[in-house]
Amino acid sequence: MAIPTLQLPSPITQIFSPLLDAQRLQLFIKRDDLIHPLISGNKWRKLKYNLQQAKKEQQSCLLTFGGAWSNHIHATAAAGNYFGFNTIGIIRGESPPTLSATLQDAQDWGMQLHFVNREQYRHKTEADFIAGLRQQFGNFYLIPEGGSNTLAMQGCAEIIDELTEPYDVLCVDCGTGTTLAGVICGNKDQTQVLGFSVLKGGDFLSPQVQSMLDKTHRHYHNWQINNDYHFGGYAKTTPALFEFIKTFKRDHGVQLEPVYSGKMFYGIFDLIKKGYFKQGSRILALHGGGLQGLRGYNLD
Ligand SMILES: *Cc1c(COP(=O)(O)O)cnc(C)c1O
Repeated sequence: MAIPTLQLPSPITQIFSPLLDAQRLQLFIKRDDLIHPLISGNKWRKLKYNLQQAKKEQQSCLLTFGGAWSNHIHATAAAGNYFGFNTIGIIRGESPPTLSATLQDAQDWGMQLHFVNREQYRHKTEADFIAGLRQQFGNFYLIPEGGSNTLAMQGCAEIIDELTEPYDVLCVDCGTGTTLAGVICGNKDQTQVLGFSVLKGGDFLSPQVQSMLDKTHRHYHNWQINNDYHFGGYAKTTPALFEFIKTFKRDHGVQLEPVYSGKMFYGIFDLIKKGYFKQGSRILALHGGGLQGLRGYNLD
């Protein structure tokens, strides 16, 4: 594959609805889903400086972790192919009889898939486990699950650099919270940053984001994480969520997915109905891409 053309800065789409008008709110979407069809959304932003660092270290192989529908595995495999790295994916769970569409793409782009059971997978950040991987696969540049490290945060902070208009609230959907941490770092303090956790029992997430922020040795305020819209937990869904995603596409022409962006936008609209946002606010929500994962769901 040739070096990809990336749509950066990513465009911004305004959403119109009577509900927004009634509260004099303006809602905009930062379309990171349009950055690239294969290296999508925040996964590109998280990979960018990691790819540069790997080149600098003269590493020829990237190794990373994820599940069968992982957007990060998908993006890393595509990026490796484009930018000339071998890639190894350590995949959570036993090897299935047929690969998910995500893993099939990754394999087609040259990623070597290595399945580990859930118990082993839990050790993925431990030094012994990683030493074992180095014994098995030789030298590699390690990217953590979800692409989440300090270089990834740095890439995500650039979302803010791309903004040319002021906003009162920035909304970010959160898995590991790395994208949120990056946005907080790049943020100017008068803007409120609101994360939406897609995990159940997300109370661990604020301290996790705080410890990422602590690494920058600066202080940040004016950010929170909302834990009310996880819909039962990671990748769990409800009929109401699918209905919302379908209606959103019909009314606004923007495709969401049920793991991240669907939950956040559902949450944003619910909070609007509850009068959470100050009248007159300009809200910017980040669409982090991940639409390849839709193939794991039957949307009709
Ligand atoms: C991975 C992903 C996220 C979560 O990003 P974190 O930095 O792990 O919080 C959010 N949205 C989409 C679409 C993603 O693919």
